[in-house]
Amino acid sequence: MKKGKKIYEGKAKIIYSTSDKDLVIQYFKDDATAFNNQKKSTIEGKGVLNNRISEHILSKLSQIGIKNHLVKRLNMREQVVKLVEIIPIEFIVRNVATGSLTKRLGIEDGTILKEPLIEYCLKDDKLGDPLIAEEHILAFDWASKTEIEKVKKMILRINDFMIGMFGGVGIKLIDFKLEFGRLTSNGKKEVILADEISPDTCRLWDSVTDKKLDKDRFRKDLGDLIPAYTEVAKRLGILHEQSNLSVVNVTKLSSIKRKRK
Ligand code: UDP
Repeated sequence: MKKGKKIYEGKAKIIYSTSDKDLVIQYFKDDATAFNNQKKSTIEGKGVLNNRISEHILSKLSQIGIKNHLVKRLNMREQVVKLVEIIPIEFIVRNVATGSLTKRLGIEDGTILKEPLIEYCLKDDKLGDPLIAEEHILAFDWASKTEIEKVKKMILRINDFMIGMFGGVGIKLIDFKLEFGRLTSNGKKEVILADEISPDTCRLWDSVTDKKLDKDRFRKDLGDLIPAYTEVAKRLGILHEQSNLSVVNVTKLSSIKRKRK
């Protein structure tokens, strides 16, 4: 399988075509953005960690029957994924109130929700990914009723699984974002999990100290983002001796390059 042309570039990832029309390569960049692109930076080594963490979580989800786009990780920054037609909705899943929910509704930060709350945002950077209702999704045909029902079922299983997985390593899963896509196989369309699941797309707090181990370190200028993402990877058992060194090397090499500039 050969890597082809860039077909899409997003804020944190690039998609390349391959010689197989059904597969694409997903490349994880080091770019970080927040507040609808108003805050931007490059954090050396972030893409490497997100590639590994997302691969780990999506593989685990496959093992419990959650179909997703991951085929295999290729190298430090790239993975082969199935080409899907992305549903233009960001599915936000919340277990604890924080972030935009607290601001929007005046709910106290850290309030534990009785049940997981699913919110929908339209994937449209120009409009600032506005919050929408299920009715909007149906009214404008962004997804069908059947697709939404299937996605909701998958989301609740993914959430239960991830709460357990992170809980077992001393991390609280506060909230996260998921994206789904349509895969056509044998003439039938099926909705599968796509995109990434990483500290860029989840809020992860240490179970004891509530220390933030996610992109809020960038959003809120808390610093030490790489050590926090590395901590998540280590606790999940992803970073073994050698790969641990690789990530450290990438960050070290990058900082050497920076100093030279
Ligand atoms: N999120 C994301 N991408 C987005 C918006 C949200 O990955 O474009 C994730 C975010 O990291 C958090 C959850 O979705 O884990 C809920 O985000 P919220 O709406 O509170 O976003 P905020 O506006 O506070 O960043």
